[in-house]
Amino acid sequence: MNNRLYGNLIFELSQEGRKGYSLPKNRFGDYKVPQELRRTDDAALPECDEMTVVRHYTNLSANNFGVDNGFYPLGSCTMKYNPKINEEIAALPQFQNLHPLQPAETTKGAEAVCTLLCRSLCELTGLHAFTLKPFAGAHGELTGLMVIKKYHESRGDLQRTKVIVPDSAHGTNPASAAVCGLDIVEAKSLADGTIDVEALKELLDAVGSHSVAAMMMTNPNTLGLFEQQIPAIEKLIHDCGALMYYDGANLNPMLGVARPGDMGFDVMHINLHKTFSTPHGGGGPGAGPVGVRKGLESFFPKVSPYHGNFAVAMRAYAYILSLGREHIKDIGPLATLNANYIKESLKDVYELPIDTTCCHEFVFDGLKDKSTGVTTMDVAKRLLDYGYHAPTIYFPLLFHESLMIEPTENESKETLDRFIAVMRQIAEEAKTHPEQVTSAPHNTPIGRVDDVLAAKHPVVTYRQMARQEEN
Ligand SMILES: *Cc1c(COP(=O)(O)O)cnc(C)c1O
Repeated sequence: MNNRLYGNLIFELSQEGRKGYSLPKNRFGDYKVPQELRRTDDAALPECDEMTVVRHYTNLSANNFGVDNGFYPLGSCTMKYNPKINEEIAALPQFQNLHPLQPAETTKGAEAVCTLLCRSLCELTGLHAFTLKPFAGAHGELTGLMVIKKYHESRGDLQRTKVIVPDSAHGTNPASAAVCGLDIVEAKSLADGTIDVEALKELLDAVGSHSVAAMMMTNPNTLGLFEQQIPAIEKLIHDCGALMYYDGANLNPMLGVARPGDMGFDVMHINLHKTFSTPHGGGGPGAGPVGVRKGLESFFPKVSPYHGNFAVAMRAYAYILSLGREHIKDIGPLATLNANYIKESLKDVYELPIDTTCCHEFVFDGLKDKSTGVTTMDVAKRLLDYGYHAPTIYFPLLFHESLMIEPTENESKETLDRFIAVMRQIAEEAKTHPEQVTSAPHNTPIGRVDDVLAAKHPVVTYRQMARQEEN
């Protein structure tokens, strides 16, 4: 243990009477705060000197992990480098100090950014119109499904209450459909990880094709595989009067390669915070713009006040402009190359259930050698010891030991090679010193957490405060 104050809360560093501030006397003149508004007890605030406060928060920030500290191969989340120029532009006072209620004639610049970003998104996706209002990917899914519901209602077609969602879909897909008041019907994947078109045909007959509102798809799907059968699927769905929804949370592999609009999708959302470089994770901020084909734009609902997360839109537009039409095309192929490089370099020691060329990400099913007793969870925890963020684990649910890796286009060959070497080292340790892996992490401020206990009995309050209240 070094002398950094790991684990201390600022309240525990408090010393009665210690001050880190000085206020001018009588700043508010003779104004008397009405008696009923005055507090009777002092607020329970920590009392610390300035240096203690600075050290406390600096040390806390050093316990964070982000793409600016190290490699973060979190599949399905696209933790890619966020160029700093986007931050500078979004933080310009002319944008940052805007108020949503200020007179429209004073916000023409911001309005132009929104219009031009929507235009860029239309060009990148092949769709007709976008709304920037949704605050996240899941919020975009809900918005898109609301558009689809309204479209059917506008035609007096009220019996369409079902949404087809592949078994490989991101969990937000069925959740959004449920929130939208729709019923979920699961479509099965083939052994190669893509949608089973024959089974889909049978499914449509079985559930009654007139009751289907939409099919939601992710392409490349959550296994990182390109759905080759999209033309056949799109025809089946449209022939029965339903619409095609595209989950474009991760657009990275598609940029400059293919467009959902050209594949026959009618409605989609994009996570600006993933593909278009807003720092994310830890819950925000985000933006999930929704795009639609011509004729559906009148069904956009009002899902947020004002103009959505403008600063996220600002970063996305800066990012798109800085790459330009000619360089944005490089993203998809480079992200695909990096993912395949890692996959091919590790598939002799990690189980690769679907051995084909992947797009931007791929999934291992744990270690190849199943006799060691070392699980995907153990591998993920051991990676922390080596200074890497863990990949996405136990998702997708199609395999028991899923380990989903997405390197993104930004990483150098040297970074990928170091990661590959560490993954091989862990596979070796699993054979020679399995306990070293199963008891990891060893080098982090907090060791292995009992996540069942943490989920079932979360302690979300500050303990000392709780004790004070008890007394
Ligand atoms: C991240 C993700 C979502 C959800 O996006 P949020 O912004 O976290 O709500 C939906 N679908 C896929 C495929 C994703 O990767």
